[in-house]
Amino acid sequence: MSQQVVTRFAPSPTGYLHIGGGRTALFNWLYARGRGGKFLLRIEDTDRERSTPEATEAILRGLTWLGLDWDGDVVSQFDRKDRHAEVAHQMLAKGAAFKCFSTQDEIEAFREAAREAGTSTLFRSPWRDADPSTHPDAPFVIRMKAPREGETVVQDEVQGTVRFRNDQLDDMVVLRSDGTPTYMLAVVVDDYDMGVTHVIRGDDHLNNAARQQMVYDAMEWTVPVWAHIPLIHGPDGAKLSKRHGALGVEEYQAMGYPASGMRNYLARLGWSHGDDEIFTSDQAKEWFDFGGIGKAPARLDFKKLENVCGHHIAMTDDAALLQELEAFLARTGAAELTGKQRELFLQGMYCLKERAKTFPELLDKAQFLMADRPIVPDAASAKSLDSASRGILSDLTPRLRDASWNKEGLEPVLTGLASDHGIGFGKLAGPIRAALAGRSATPSVYDMMLVIGRDETIARLEDAAA
Ligand code: GLU
Repeated sequence: MSQQVVTRFAPSPTGYLHIGGGRTALFNWLYARGRGGKFLLRIEDTDRERSTPEATEAILRGLTWLGLDWDGDVVSQFDRKDRHAEVAHQMLAKGAAFKCFSTQDEIEAFREAAREAGTSTLFRSPWRDADPSTHPDAPFVIRMKAPREGETVVQDEVQGTVRFRNDQLDDMVVLRSDGTPTYMLAVVVDDYDMGVTHVIRGDDHLNNAARQQMVYDAMEWTVPVWAHIPLIHGPDGAKLSKRHGALGVEEYQAMGYPASGMRNYLARLGWSHGDDEIFTSDQAKEWFDFGGIGKAPARLDFKKLENVCGHHIAMTDDAALLQELEAFLARTGAAELTGKQRELFLQGMYCLKERAKTFPELLDKAQFLMADRPIVPDAASAKSLDSASRGILSDLTPRLRDASWNKEGLEPVLTGLASDHGIGFGKLAGPIRAALAGRSATPSVYDMMLVIGRDETIARLEDAAA
């Protein structure tokens, strides 16, 4: 039996969940979920100055909104610092690491001299091979005894075979003089202890993989499968930055994009499955593989995001869409829907969800079913309620009393009314829209009538005719 896949998302809690982090989490989630594996979450909060509980909360909220559920408890890297120190000491005992007593000043002086001499500034500690009997009683850091010759080869599922010359890598510090671990050590120990089999992350960590591999080798632990994915760039092809706008996952939630559409869009940012553009998360789980990840940075494309989200709104079933819409309303601080409104939404969702790309757009279309009588027309639609139109509307109401309440029944009533008054259907739609919704941009008059029902339709038409 092959080993169970275990992936993880390991954000540093120094800010909101940004879009690149959301995509990294998604790729890990898809890879694990599609293989019956586990998807773990680790908060890399060892940097006590920059890590905040608010940022952790924001990351959890962002992931939850995106629907990326993780297995087990959230792991705090900081909580595991004793274990990290333990491994550093094990490496020391194995001779794979050494105590370095060089002070910060000495290292700086070395670098300064090297810069002046034009030689490598890579610090080579004099303590690497020193006899322990010569060790002073002074603070020390623990450094890896990195190989000096040959190459470290990273086999990466996305980047291919990447070679690093060992003479370019220094004896990195794994434990600081205050006993706290460095990031390089903590990541490896945590991934090993958490049983992570596949490390999928941004390619800004590719160089780290080479150095982290040394820790795996020193501990004789199996190196995980690496997959370093190209970063996301802005629409202009430049590295993503604040000036591109909307970098936080939660900003997309606030703008009212559906989470399923966001997952679809993020999945396509750097990954593809043939020509498939619109797919469900179940399909993505089934299809997701490293082979589909491109080597070039993906570009953000807001038009495409809208298009994908429009498809997802249209394809989500009505009850689920209503639930997500209500969550959106709650988040914006809007009043809860009443029972009656909820019912109307379920009746009307079929026409609301066509062509709405976001929840605000959907709500805008739904204005006619949220509104209460008397409907107050806006300035533009009030113009279509002149006395002639009001006369026509009062002729309409008796005709509606016995009509069958479906499109086939209503159509002859409205076209008959238009021809009796010698006007085109277009001229009739304006006053009806004004009466039913108080505005000129609405779903079709039939859809509105069908959704609000006969009594409410007649009452609104009578209000407008009066
Ligand atoms: N904490 C790192 C970051 O937020 C990720 C480390 C990793 O995935 O190995 O960039």
